[in-house]
Amino acid sequence: MQSINWIGGEWITPSGLEVAVKNPSRLSEEVGVVRYSDPSHIFAAEQAARLAQPFWAMQTGAARGEILFQMASVLEARTDELARLASQEMGKQIGEMRGEVARGVNLLRYYAGEGMRSDGSLIPASDSHVLQYSKRVPLGVVAVITPWNFPVAIPIWKIAPALICGNAVIWKPAENSSLTATRLAQMFAETRLPAGVLNVVIGKGKEIGTALVEEAAVDAVSFTGSSATGRQIAIACAGRNSKYQTEMGGKNAAVVLADADLDRTVPILLSGAFRSAGQKCTATSRIIVEKSIYQELVERLQIAIEDCRVGEASDPDVYLGPVASFDQYEKVNRYVSLAQEQAKIIASSPDTPLSSQGYYIRPLIVEGVAASHPLVQEEVFGPLTVLLQAEDFDEAISLCNQTVYGLSASLFTRNLSSAHRFLDLAQAGMVRVNQETAGVEYQAPFGGMKQSSSHTREQGQAALQFYSEIKTCAIKYAW
Ligand code: NAD
Repeated sequence: MQSINWIGGEWITPSGLEVAVKNPSRLSEEVGVVRYSDPSHIFAAEQAARLAQPFWAMQTGAARGEILFQMASVLEARTDELARLASQEMGKQIGEMRGEVARGVNLLRYYAGEGMRSDGSLIPASDSHVLQYSKRVPLGVVAVITPWNFPVAIPIWKIAPALICGNAVIWKPAENSSLTATRLAQMFAETRLPAGVLNVVIGKGKEIGTALVEEAAVDAVSFTGSSATGRQIAIACAGRNSKYQTEMGGKNAAVVLADADLDRTVPILLSGAFRSAGQKCTATSRIIVEKSIYQELVERLQIAIEDCRVGEASDPDVYLGPVASFDQYEKVNRYVSLAQEQAKIIASSPDTPLSSQGYYIRPLIVEGVAASHPLVQEEVFGPLTVLLQAEDFDEAISLCNQTVYGLSASLFTRNLSSAHRFLDLAQAGMVRVNQETAGVEYQAPFGGMKQSSSHTREQGQAALQFYSEIKTCAIKYAW
């Protein structure tokens, strides 16, 4: 498999740097070759998108929706193939990866249906015989910049609403999911999507990503990724007054109160912390526990973590695969070393016999660090979670909110009053009770508060607000 650009309906092989992709589960196995583009490919994509967009915007919502339904059907038929490729490319466990592709199918169908939903309102006019109304119009050409950790769902939750609103898209996928992006583009090319409406340019963020954001005259940028990159993108877009959304990191807390149902809570905590090897922006990276049940919860976690088996991502029976790349392996291991030196490791799962063959990191639960410690404050983005003790509900809430991030937070309790107080007080865009910090549904708005987001929302109806703008129209039809 080789990566390739899809620009104006043509398949174009860039002549830049060639990189062999190694399977993070077995580094001896080559999955394919990625060829990096240069900024000229971005400018070609911009031109193609500009040419294609007016025709696309003129189609009825129903016609655009029909094409999104086709995209969903093609993807659904290839679920297994795409899930396997992505799993080999970035190490997500195969069962989770299949679930992610299914989510992509659902997202396409959800937004296909939006083509037939009313999108404006009738507004009373002060004058007589005036029809005044608002309607949503597309933005034009939208840049979509995505990370590797959800290589199928995140691109689709941006591309599908952008397309149904009548925009043309230039998609720059992450370096570490370029093969998956290429295959997805090839699948979408089998539909009647007009040439140039969706363009895919493969390459490095620092080269073509900056060209896309800073030099190409795109009308909007939708970005998901690290806080550092998000900040740069926000500054560049604000400078040209382009619409932007940046969804970034998290340091999500699960708060466990003394009255929680621990039989049900423990598996949810482990899933939130360790599925996808902890590489979810919504992963449970802090567990805040009411003091009176702290020791009991520790003992239960120590037993339950034994079943979180690490292994090859293609094995449907493993709990988590490797981390995605060498960079991830290095970065997460720096935090593991910090935990070994400065914290107490209270639980970890058995090592895999494959440990030397891939980027495997065993899940770790640690304790014994202050709330200001980097392990409690910085996004690890790996299978490591920190336990903190709280005297009571009020201290738990205060610890939960002691972070610059505000993506997701969960509470475990049987008390309705505590549940509602938590939903009121937790400073996060997604707040949940007796549920994982991860796993928000596609039909619900998704996004963070504080430093996690530019305060827009993705998915659900909220995405339509980002990918369109409101025009207020008035007609005087009689004097
Ligand atoms: P990243 O910021 O390194 O890269 C994300 C994308 O931006 C990639 O496509 C990359 O090539 C591109 N990019 C990098 N530098 C750029 C630049 N200067 N200009 C334009 N584009 C550039 O992030 P990553 O390591 O791929 O992803 C992990 C991060 O993503 C984590 O922090 C995680 O929390 C975050 N994330 C957030 C959400 C969310 O919805 N809030 C979801 C998933 C991941």
